[in-house]
Amino acid sequence: MSKNKFLITGGCGFIGTATINRLINNKENEVLNIDKLTYAANIASLKELKLQENFKFVKLNISKFKGLQKVVSSFKPNIIIHLAAETHVDRSIAKPKEFIESNIIGTFNLLETSRKYYNHLDKKEKKNFLFLHVSTDEVFGDSENKLKPSKELDAYDPSSPYSATKASSNHLVKVWNKTFGLPIIITNCSNNYGPRQFNEKFIPSVIINALSGKKIRIYGNGRQSRDWIYVEDHINALFKVLEKGKIGEIYNIGTQHKVENIKVAEMICEILNNFVKIKPKGIQNFNELITFVNDRPAHDVKYDLNTDKIYKKLSWEPTISFEEGLFETVKWYMRNKNWWTKFK
Ligand code: NAD
Repeated sequence: MSKNKFLITGGCGFIGTATINRLINNKENEVLNIDKLTYAANIASLKELKLQENFKFVKLNISKFKGLQKVVSSFKPNIIIHLAAETHVDRSIAKPKEFIESNIIGTFNLLETSRKYYNHLDKKEKKNFLFLHVSTDEVFGDSENKLKPSKELDAYDPSSPYSATKASSNHLVKVWNKTFGLPIIITNCSNNYGPRQFNEKFIPSVIINALSGKKIRIYGNGRQSRDWIYVEDHINALFKVLEKGKIGEIYNIGTQHKVENIKVAEMICEILNNFVKIKPKGIQNFNELITFVNDRPAHDVKYDLNTDKIYKKLSWEPTISFEEGLFETVKWYMRNKNWWTKFK
């Protein structure tokens, strides 16, 4: 990619940190990260990023309009990658209001700020401007009883306050293009995993609980299946969309490789069984820690995305197999205990 000024929202989270790390490697890029620094923010990585000359950080809550306009008009981005969101489904069931504020009001504030900023750009700058909204396969809801994988323009059918707020944000972003002509692209990606994902998400929680000798809690019968994508593959897809995507379009991103939650937990246990010589007290095999607990309300059984559009039109495809990515991820958590114990 050529020289660009990127405004990243939520850049201290899991996907944001990985995205910024890739962007600042190109010294021609300038990156400004705005983040509210919620519990999910990664402060250790932020400290490292702050050492880079082409990186700036402003602590900002996008659900408050104040400050946003000033930051955007002074930084003058040509690409906005909107990642900031409340993201944990269980938390959205316990406290939905924060999801409405960050995911819906926050996206609205960012769109309005971007629209005002965009309207004052000259013709050449307008051509160079793009608002990329990063969203999720969860907007389509449960695929268990659907005949076909969800395509980009299928109706949204969310099941949790999290996915409902992401679906709402997708609608807003689409409309800011249709009504106001803001150049946007939306991506709906499947479940990400990889290093530096916050402890409470499924894969880190299995690894961390196992290493700590605690119960590995599996919802229901564990037969929920997800299309797992390694975070670096997601970022490759986002870069491909920035480079070749068509304004106003939506792209599904996924690997077309689904694995049941119970199988994921068993694969993690197998890796740990091979690599951890001294097992936690009272067990000989990590699988002994697997425990089934009451299912989450309205828990989607299956997510199934049709990803033909990005495969065929943008020639993107994932490069890291689930076995390979999972191995790298488990290794990372084993070697970086300092990182995850900070959040415990
Ligand atoms: P994360 O929870 O790890 O990070 C979210 C970041 O957003 C945090 O740093 C947090 O401090 C920040 N944030 C939250 N509310 C904010 C606000 N009001 N103002 C400013 N910053 C705020 O999330 P993630 O997994 O990195 O996901 C990033 C984006 O990608 C989200 O929009 C999510 O919906 C989407 N997505 C995630 C996945 C996944 O599997 N992780 C899959 C598809 C799409």
